Amino acid sequence: MSDRTYLVLLGAPGAGKGTQAQLLEERLGIPQISTGEIFRYNLKNQTELGQLAQSYYDKGELVPDEVTIRMVEARLSQEDAAKGAIMDGFPRNLLQAEALDEMTAGYGGINVVPFFQLEDDVVTMRITGRRVCRNCDRVYHLTFNPPSGEGCDSCGGELYQRNDDKPETVQNRLYIYYKQTSPLIGYYFAKGLLEEVDGARSIQEMQEQLLERLASRNVKAAKSAVSD
Ligand code: ADP
Ligand code: AMP
Repeated sequence: MSDRTYLVLLGAPGAGKGTQAQLLEERLGIPQISTGEIFRYNLKNQTELGQLAQSYYDKGELVPDEVTIRMVEARLSQEDAAKGAIMDGFPRNLLQAEALDEMTAGYGGINVVPFFQLEDDVVTMRITGRRVCRNCDRVYHLTFNPPSGEGCDSCGGELYQRNDDKPETVQNRLYIYYKQTSPLIGYYFAKGLLEEVDGARSIQEMQEQLLERLASRNVKAAKSAVSD
């Protein structure tokens, strides 16, 4: 038995993975690892990795596996991930899924794969209204989850619309999701790890359902929510 917990949040872009991961990390005491966020950090700082990822990111395409897998390996070996991690946006295809299996095999493997189910038209509304804090990456929605003032509620940072959230890129991202990422639903179902979560519910209701699904798999919240 291992005392590490690895979750993989699966679902279309805009299904609510990042929002739930940000809420969950405090409750489970393990970090969210968002590959999209790591790429955005590197794009912003124009690192070598950022320059390499730029053209793929802007078109909504997947950054090559070799680069992405190496990046995740390095992130998972950092100290704050010593008790596990909430994977958000990785894996996105079968090769990445197999690589994550290998990375976690020595620690008991992946515990649960919550799958966020949501209709495409709602997904599109969610993505086009998304705004992100430039400073701390907190996620908002203009209609469904607006900030209380002009800037970020957590740090006062400026909110911006991601380049790849503009309507012309969203269709391509959905296409790539269905073609490359959706086969992972079957992959994890066959492994007995998949737990469906209703992505059409409110943020709070989704969090409750998610915690129930995790508890049914023996993944328990270490801390209670502020609103409990
Ligand atoms: P993903 O990480 O799956 O791409 P996000 O968590 O960034 O998705 O959510 C996409 C957008 O939808 C964001 O603007 C977020 O504020 C909003 N959102 C997330 N969950 C819900 C929900 N349950 N109801 C309404 N809006 C939501
Ligand atoms: P996300 O923030 O998860 O919506 O990801 C934004 C973009 O980052 C994607 O459209 C890809 O260009 C890139 N990206 C994120 N995660 C991955 C991944 N696992 N594999 C390849 N590219 C990724």
